[in-house]
Parts: sequence; C-alpha cells; structure tokens
Amino acid sequence: MLKAKDKSVKALTGGVEYLFKKNKVDYVKGAASFASPTSIDVALLEGGSTQLQTKNVLIATGSEVTPFPGIEIDEKQIVSSTGALDLQQVPEKLVVIGAGVIGLELGSVWARLGAKVEVVEFLGAIGGAGMDGEVSKNFQKILAKQGLKFNLNTKVLGAEKKDGKVHIAVEGAKDGKKSTIEADVVLVAIGRRPYTEGLNLDKIGVEVDNRGRIVIDSQFNTSVPNVKCIGDVTFGPMLAHKAEDEGIAAVEYFKTGFGHVNYGVIPSVVYTHPEVAWVGKTEEDCKAEGIEYKVGNFPMVANSRAKTNADADGFVKVLAEKNTDRILGAHIIGAVAGESIAELALALEYGASAEDVARTVHAHPTVSEAVKEAALMASSGKAINA
Ligand code: NAD
Repeated sequence: MLKAKDKSVKALTGGVEYLFKKNKVDYVKGAASFASPTSIDVALLEGGSTQLQTKNVLIATGSEVTPFPGIEIDEKQIVSSTGALDLQQVPEKLVVIGAGVIGLELGSVWARLGAKVEVVEFLGAIGGAGMDGEVSKNFQKILAKQGLKFNLNTKVLGAEKKDGKVHIAVEGAKDGKKSTIEADVVLVAIGRRPYTEGLNLDKIGVEVDNRGRIVIDSQFNTSVPNVKCIGDVTFGPMLAHKAEDEGIAAVEYFKTGFGHVNYGVIPSVVYTHPEVAWVGKTEEDCKAEGIEYKVGNFPMVANSRAKTNADADGFVKVLAEKNTDRILGAHIIGAVAGESIAELALALEYGASAEDVARTVHAHPTVSEAVKEAALMASSGKAINA
C-alpha cells in the first residue's frame, strides 16, 4: 500500500514539474527569502544561492502542523499526518489527538487495517469546524460501528514515552476527571498553522495577523503593492481546491485586473469510508443567520445503487430557502459523497432551486438519484422512494 501511495505521489508531483516545463515556467528549487519587494534570495537545494528579480510576487507557502506544547513529534511513535502516512507497520493501538479531518481520515485508515483506534477530542462533536451538527452525530455513530472509540469533551494534558509505549494524560473538560490512555502510536492532529518561516516578511513590511496569517484584501493584495498571497497561509479554509482557484484568480488580477472566487461555494470532503461532503450553509448557519429553511433528507438505504453495493450508510440532506426554494446548502454521508457533492456545488453556483435539481433526470441505478430525491423532498416534502 505504501509503495502504491509513493508511486501516486511521485507521478502527480512529477506531472506538475512536467507542466512547468511544457508551459515554460522556470522551477527554482530552494528556500526563498525577500531581499526587497522585487528581489528574492534563494538558498538552492543543491547548494549555493541565487537572486531573482521580479515585478510581481505571489506567496503560496501553505501551512504546517500545529505542534502540541510538550508533545514532541518524532514521526515514528508520535506522528503528525506526515508520519501517519508512512507507518511501516499497523500499530496495535493508535491514539488520535483531535477529531478533525486529519484525525478521522487517518484514524479510520489504520482502523480498517486492524489498529485499535481511540480518538481524544476537546470539543463535544467530531469533524472539526463547519460540519453540520446532524451529519457530525451520524458520522460518529458510523465510525463507532467501525470500531473507533471516541473520548469527546476531553483535554490532553501531555504525553510521556515509557517502555515502548506512549502514556497520554487526559482530563474530562466537564468533570475534570483525570486518566491515562496507553498507545503504541500517537497521531497529533489538532490543526495546521500558516507557514512563513524564513520568508523575511518583516523586512519588506508584509502584514501578518495574530494567528500568523498573511493579511490580504478581496483582490489577494498584501500590504505591499506588488505582492499577492493565496492558500493556507492566508484566510479561509485550508483546502487545496480553494488555494487552486485563488491562485488562478490572483494571477488574473495581476494580468487583467479582474478575478473571482465564490467563497460561498467551496465543497468540503472528508475522505473516510463512507465519505462526508458538504457545500454551502449548515442548519446551524441558517439558524444563526435567521434564514427560514426547508430540509430534504433521503437515506442511502433507500437508494438502489447504494443498497445493491451493500454500502448504504449515510444520507443526502438538502437545505433550501423556505419561500424561494433556492438551495442554501447540501450535506452528504455516503460511499461516493465526495463525487456526489459536485452536482450540488454546481447547483449552488448557478443559484438553482431544489425543484431544479429534483426535475433533472438522473440515471438509474446511481447514487446520484439520492441527491435528486433529497432535493425533491426539500422542494415538495415528498420523495419517490421513501
Ligand atoms: P482541524 O482543525 O480540522 O481539527 C482539529 C481538531 O482537534 C478539532 O476538532 C479541535 O477541536 C481538536 N483539538 C484542538 N486542540 C486539541 C487538544 N488540545 N486536545 C484535543 N483536541 C484538540 O485540523 P486537522 O484535522 O489537523 O486538519 C488541519 C487542516 O488541514 C484543516 O484545515 C483541514 O481542513 C485541512 N485538511 C483537509 C483535508 C480534507 O479536506 N480532506 C485533509 C487534510 C487536511
């Protein structure tokens, strides 16, 4: 499995290098640092250094793992996502700190391979920020059925390596009860933070906020006129596809003065099995914003394809504005939720009503019919097969 993973990573990153060549983009391998807003010092990977002169700069340096104070990551026994993608054997017991996207994805991978997985989460729900509450609860039940054990409302105090194990001290956030959990491997997945080390931002006066994010305006401009910035190192969700579209828009601004990213329509996908995917508003968002909404909820178990594949955990939930029927958000748990969400992202982008999606012919037998049924349920209060 690890060989197959390495082969894919190599092919994909190699593909990007090939595209650089094909499009006549010079790829300078090294660590960059601002000498001035228009000159960049580069410490080359192969040794030595060079200086590049430029009219414009786009910063896209991404993020790094947020360290847990007092727990040192060695990427062997106490790992971040990097080490968790490269464990050479299945740990007997894996403890995951943080039930966000990384903790759940990698925790469930190792659980499927046979590890006993226990998750410690500070908050009262899994899935990190932005997951719809009903989805989060159902998702937790599904993962628990697969053998993952959850300790919610639980604070990690520290970890100590002893006799080949790691002893993790935890405390109930509500009752203050202290206990210890023993692990063979610990995954620290408590978030990521912007990465700007060595860039020398101070020197040229690029403003950074109190969370280390480079401050930009709606056109990706930093506080220095010819320097723009996109991706994990600035505001918004830390997602590759968000950064990709921002990159295109920022370059369009450089070239034409116009660009656009619709931040209301950025799909999120958790790559577990089943997958969880969503786009637009959650029920909690609608309530907080005082929007009157309707819900259409269709279970996968009533979908012919999901049922035939014996892979029918989950549901599709469509939220639509009460009076106009305009789709506000969509949430899916299902084997191919990450694929199914694309249709609803397109619907949101085009301002579709739930009825628009419900009246679109969907092929039978496919999981996409569950999307149509949930939209039908949202728009008319009824579905065909439920
Ligand atoms: P996250 O922010 O998604 O989740 C971190 C979790 O850790 C939260 O639930 C938080 O409450 C919990 N936590 C924080 N401190 C804690 C503590 N001391 N004790 C116990 N729990 C604690 O972060 P992540 O899962 O590390 O992912 C980092 C970023 O990478 C996220 O922005 C995520 O969206 C992105 N990412 C996305 C994908 C994807 O879209 N499939 C995959 C990988 C990473």
